[in-house]
Amino acid sequence: MPGMVNVDVELDVVVSELERTLEAMEKNYRKAVTNLGLLRARAETDDLTRLLRRGSFLNKVEKLLDESKAETREVSILMIDLDHFKTINDRFGHQTGDNVLERISAMIREYLRPGDLAGRYGGEEIIVALQASAEEAIMIAERIREAVSACRMQSAEAATRELSVTMSVGIASTSRTGFRIKALIGEADRALYRAKKEGRDRVLAA
Ligand code: GH3
Ligand code: MG
Ligand code: MG
Repeated sequence: MPGMVNVDVELDVVVSELERTLEAMEKNYRKAVTNLGLLRARAETDDLTRLLRRGSFLNKVEKLLDESKAETREVSILMIDLDHFKTINDRFGHQTGDNVLERISAMIREYLRPGDLAGRYGGEEIIVALQASAEEAIMIAERIREAVSACRMQSAEAATRELSVTMSVGIASTSRTGFRIKALIGEADRALYRAKKEGRDRVLAA
């Protein structure tokens, strides 16, 4: 029956068209998911330092603390503040200050393990959450502090002008302070304040 053949051919055409449409939709869907991921990463990240923005850090650290509490794993918070950073800007210019901040942030990132978090807390203040005990955190912070103070950088305006910078670190840990982020930041901040008062370029734990 010739009529039946036509219907079959039409059905074949419709089916393969539908397949192509679905393929295209799937491709677009995957592209949209990828773009969403890129956009989310951009929205969470500070442009200059490539660290998490303060709000994103706080969201993520709450989650990390909840999980760590449930699994009885320790977390330590590092409050890092660059020493006399205003002087760097005054002496070498704001562009140099920006470059220094970018470089130090990259150095800090090198010491993080998967699952650790680092965010830009304020201007030249960086906050880090390490999945580590207070003792381990002190060791890691000391290593970062030493690497930073040994690092020689160049002025943006005159490459021949070398400069270096130091940082002070205050540490608070869940073993002592508990798993509430507010309390941890408060303790780390007080330790940082003491580190500044005792002469800067040092790591102090609460
Ligand atoms: P201290 O050792 O007590 O921390 O001294 P300080 O000079 O670092 O402290 P203060 O808080 O007085 O100054 C911080 C300076 O950091 C002032 C501000 O201009 C500079 N700063 C903050 N954010 C940025 C930035 O994104 N780029 C540059 N270039 N400078 C910044
Ligand atoms: Mg400072
Ligand atoms: Mg500061």
